[in-house]
Amino acid sequence: MLQLALPIVRTVAELRARVAAWRAQGDRIGLVPTMGALHEGHLSLVHLAKTRVRRVVASVFVNPTQFGPNEDFDAYPRDEAKDAQSLASAECDLLYAPTVTEMYPIGFSTSVTVSGVSATMDGIARPGHFSGVATVVSKLLLQCAPDVAVFGEKDYQQLLVIRRLVRDLDIPVEIIGAPTARLDDGLARSSRNAYLSEAERIVAGRMNVIMTDAAVRLRAGEAQDVVEAEGLAALKIAGFDRIDYFEVRGAEDLARPAKAPMRIFAAAFAGKTRLIDNMAV
Ligand code: AMP
Repeated sequence: MLQLALPIVRTVAELRARVAAWRAQGDRIGLVPTMGALHEGHLSLVHLAKTRVRRVVASVFVNPTQFGPNEDFDAYPRDEAKDAQSLASAECDLLYAPTVTEMYPIGFSTSVTVSGVSATMDGIARPGHFSGVATVVSKLLLQCAPDVAVFGEKDYQQLLVIRRLVRDLDIPVEIIGAPTARLDDGLARSSRNAYLSEAERIVAGRMNVIMTDAAVRLRAGEAQDVVEAEGLAALKIAGFDRIDYFEVRGAEDLARPAKAPMRIFAAAFAGKTRLIDNMAV
């Protein structure tokens, strides 16, 4: 197999030097933040960035501050060599893979908290999660200073949190949302799908079907609370083990009851694996 070489940097200073050299040539820069274990969804973000700017930096950093104490930080899949190979084939220009101490040196004391859009759904199910995300994304944006940064609609609430923080902190970057890449049965691609057993993988695929059905009912004018209750029941029947939420929300502010445009959000466990998805109505 042809091995494509992708430059890798691990420090803020090296990252800034690379970006400065590109800027001196007049190139615009895009950033795609990830936690690695890359799949087609991540690579679609790189492709989208590449349509907008000359140089694309992907970061791979499994951010400890966005995992809860009983979550999968230690088990989270890591394979840098494979990620570098995938990024090189996607014509990414640089991999930024900082260490935990580069990101959070001894004495690190600052955190970024976005209220409002962080306060519901995953903000309740995963206390502290969005503050961890907002802090690390603020750092990545300040370290790289890109013109554009691309985030997936797969993590739609996260996308809204990031749009809010960039506006509130006057960070000069354009945030681009990318559509969710899915597998054949509609399951959203996710690094965590690797945890699923064969039986859990079948259950997981039902989430998209149930959300699609709910979207059809909402478009037909069915009441939001009825659609939510039936969605919850359908997830249970499908075999999900624990359901965090199945909710209809406003697409722009996550308000409930939702005004148009609406979006459906779900989070549930197949076995020990927590899956999230969302869909426009
Ligand atoms: P993660 O590595 O899971 O933190 O994700 C890194 C970025 O990729 C985030 O902006 C995610 O929303 C995005 N992403 C993850 N899965 C998908 C997918 N299936 N389709 C599109 N974007 C995705």
